[in-house]
Amino acid sequence: MRPLIVIGNWKMNGNLASNQDWIKTVARGMESGMPSGRQFAVCPPFPYLSQCATLIKEHSLAFLSLGAQDTSAHEVGAYTGEVSSVMLKEMACKYVIVGHSERRQMHHEADEIIAAKALQVLDAGMTPVICVGETADEKNSGRAVEVVRGQVAKQLMVLQDRLADCLIAYEPVWAIGTGKVASAQVAQDMHRAIRLQLAEFDEDVASHVGILYGGSIKSDNAVELFAMPDIDGGLVGGASLDPQEFLAICQA
Ligand code: PEP
Repeated sequence: MRPLIVIGNWKMNGNLASNQDWIKTVARGMESGMPSGRQFAVCPPFPYLSQCATLIKEHSLAFLSLGAQDTSAHEVGAYTGEVSSVMLKEMACKYVIVGHSERRQMHHEADEIIAAKALQVLDAGMTPVICVGETADEKNSGRAVEVVRGQVAKQLMVLQDRLADCLIAYEPVWAIGTGKVASAQVAQDMHRAIRLQLAEFDEDVASHVGILYGGSIKSDNAVELFAMPDIDGGLVGGASLDPQEFLAICQA
């Protein structure tokens, strides 16, 4: 069975007061019930993980899990500024995003580093959310599928059948934070291409991996996207900062 999940990525946003309000609002919204069989998570910046873990516990928010936005490719040691997966697990994280396009582009993270990070996340007992996606130039030159297949292939090479315990987030770079959402059919076609690529490797892996769409998801486009057969939920950036909007997307 594939998971159905919505994950909010706050990126470098939030503060102690606004985080508290966000969790309180989401707790109130989720109290009245959420669609069954779905999972929801939020990924605050590292310094707020402990605060958010405490708030989630205080509000008995069974529907909401915690995730982190990145992790180190190393287990422990002299890596100033890095945060290990074991630390994130101790902070009650269930998911860790790796290979977000902002890290690929601004921090020059290559597929090999991303796969090493995913392995750390798995070894610590959490679920990596591995981001892949093509840039506008790659899309415009007709290379979207080739680029995404290349990124997935590098993960398969390292993770092999452990990919069955990961989530993949297809996030076209041209759609992130731009308001230019991929049409439901364009997103579905890419999700299908990824699923077929996984099936070429192993049918079992393909049938287990949740593939999330990310890129300018809002409550008014989420229903159509999530209705697609190979779209197993969403990774939501900007819209997840507004708790009411996040709730509406979760309801979708
Ligand atoms: C993201 O950063 O993962 C993302 C999908 O951002 P946005 O929803 O703002 O496009």
